[in-house]
Amino acid sequence: MITILFGPPGSGKGTQAQVISKRFGLPHVSTGQMLRDEVGAGSEVGREAEPIMKSGGLISDDLMVRIIEHRLGQPDAQHGVLLDGFPRTVPQAHELDEMLERTGREIGVVLFFDVPEEELKKRIERRSEIDHRADDTPEAYVQRRREYEEKSAPVIGYYEDRGTRIEYVNGNAPIDTVTESILTIFGGQLPARGVA
Ligand code: AMP
Repeated sequence: MITILFGPPGSGKGTQAQVISKRFGLPHVSTGQMLRDEVGAGSEVGREAEPIMKSGGLISDDLMVRIIEHRLGQPDAQHGVLLDGFPRTVPQAHELDEMLERTGREIGVVLFFDVPEEELKKRIERRSEIDHRADDTPEAYVQRRREYEEKSAPVIGYYEDRGTRIEYVNGNAPIDTVTESILTIFGGQLPARGVA
């Protein structure tokens, strides 16, 4: 079963994915983290991605789809994954559906993290002091936010049209409270676990 964590930058997807991943023993697949690892390793993908990430832009759909296809083909991904940061555009969502259909898997639920913009800004400011991520600068944040509005937000409409299950999570709450609301959505266990 594929669970998608979806929401604007700073909405807490990554934090919750980590908690849920531990709880259910499911891989946390963060495309942002995968890319940061590539940048750290100085690979070809990393060298291509670094300036784009730094400016707050999005990596090409082609490259992202290739990366995710490879990751979902790994043995540990066969019983489902928590997808954090993918899909981020409608073409990515469409490609993901096709990919899953080819391998007989499906999306169990899309968790949409709802957080007011003022709070998002504050969180990114705080995170920039702790993590020193290259894209947590005020300029990059503005660009990431713009990309989100223009290219990522329409993904929810795509899933609505497809009839994919979407659950809205109030992300403007303490970490434990958000986790609790996600567990309530899951009813204590991941829906259709193992069916992928
Ligand atoms: P994140 O850690 O999810 O905030 O991602 C950090 C950065 O990685 C984003 O601002 C993009 O530059 C890049 N990135 C991560 N996932 C994707 C994706 N699915 N499509 C395009 N770019 C991505």
